[in-house]
Amino acid sequence: MKKILGLVGVLLLVLVSVLIFNTLGNKPNNNQQLVTLDSLPQNAIEHMSAAIQLKTETPNDDYQFDTATFMQYRKFIEVSYPLIHKSLHRTIVDSFNYIYEWKGTDTSILPMVLMAHYDVVPVEESAVRLWHAKPYGGEIKENYIWGRGVLDDKSSMISILEATEAQLQKGFQPKQTILLCFGADEESSGKGATAVVKYFKDQHKRFDLVVDEGGEISTEDNQSIKAPIAAIGVGEKGYVTLVLTAQKAGGHSSIPANHTAIDILSRAITKVNDNPIPTKLTTPIKAYLKSISAYNDNFFEKMALSNLWLFESRIVKSLSEQPTSNALIRTTLVPTVFNSGVRDNVIPTFATAYINSRILPGQSSKDVFDYVQKVIDDTNIKITYYKNYMTEPSPTTDVNSKYYKRVEKVVRSVVKDVVVAPMLMVGATDSRNYREVSDGVVNFTPLTDAKGYHGIDERMLISDFQKCFNFYTLLIKGE
Ligand SMILES: [Zn+2]
Repeated sequence: MKKILGLVGVLLLVLVSVLIFNTLGNKPNNNQQLVTLDSLPQNAIEHMSAAIQLKTETPNDDYQFDTATFMQYRKFIEVSYPLIHKSLHRTIVDSFNYIYEWKGTDTSILPMVLMAHYDVVPVEESAVRLWHAKPYGGEIKENYIWGRGVLDDKSSMISILEATEAQLQKGFQPKQTILLCFGADEESSGKGATAVVKYFKDQHKRFDLVVDEGGEISTEDNQSIKAPIAAIGVGEKGYVTLVLTAQKAGGHSSIPANHTAIDILSRAITKVNDNPIPTKLTTPIKAYLKSISAYNDNFFEKMALSNLWLFESRIVKSLSEQPTSNALIRTTLVPTVFNSGVRDNVIPTFATAYINSRILPGQSSKDVFDYVQKVIDDTNIKITYYKNYMTEPSPTTDVNSKYYKRVEKVVRSVVKDVVVAPMLMVGATDSRNYREVSDGVVNFTPLTDAKGYHGIDERMLISDFQKCFNFYTLLIKGE
């Protein structure tokens, strides 16, 4: 007995030592490169304001551009960035998508791509009165530039153009060829980016690093981490919507049968809600937890995060309790549309509901379909894919790759004392197309706690504009 107790004691001691060793050995990465950061060029803010005043609202489904405004925007870019238009070669794809090629001195290196889109989502007419600035006024006040599109995604486009123009002014020529790719319909069909990538594929082009919008910096809700966290997108979740239809002969509401189409469908939806798809810690999220854990001030949290082999299930449980973190560890399912009935005294024959799903890497739209079918387990419910439209989850960029490391290094130079961590993107961007021509697609813009995306009071801190400018400048300079 004594022997067994002794053995248990030794094992416990070993366990505690391993836990503490892993926790204390998990040290923050404080490698910060000291580089000189240029100030925003004199006209930059004026240019951003002018860009917002051009109402480049996203074309609707049938791909109708407001040609006059999009042409005006082209003219504005040509006039504001004369050196770019003198030195870079521009190709126009599908009317309003642009590729600018800046030839590097060493053509043996694959080109880098800096991406952005300049179409914006419309402003809701009824919400205009809730804005604290004119949505298309391009106003500058309280250290912000205000207006639809200033974050999404003219912040990137104008910063890329400013950084390029400023370097051209200095007579700089990059070693690596740089392509600037600007899309005109990211917020709707995204057909522009597809056409641009097809254009590249037809020429058998491959690329090195590709940087697009997506990941950002957060300083709020970082819980036990005091530093800002820069989340670099390394992959995107997939997207599919399922249509559930229940059919049951309706009739007069005065003599109802046991179960109506509405009852059958409601039961099916309850089953889906009660049985979420099981959680899964994917590689990017494991890497995210590892990256942020070193900065955690709470010893016990840090210990758990530094010892995933032992605490994974507890961590997953706690992540699943918040909607934002839950979305990172699970293929989500949510009912978004419910339709049935025509009159208050008629029992309807049909009831339909849509279930929208965002799919984790490693799973597929077919997996979602099969799972929902199995959970509902009711032959009265017909399941189909909505409009046959779906995107599978993207491949993910390796966090140990040179692409990720390069962006990480630049972010550390631009933002002081920042925690850099990989992130899985829950929405889709134009860059997903580029995964066909590059292994290094990364999503990041150094915007801090940005607010107003697609909603009211979209605005960008002027200091963030400065950061974006520095971010692209360092990428261009290859630092
Ligand atoms: Zn966007």
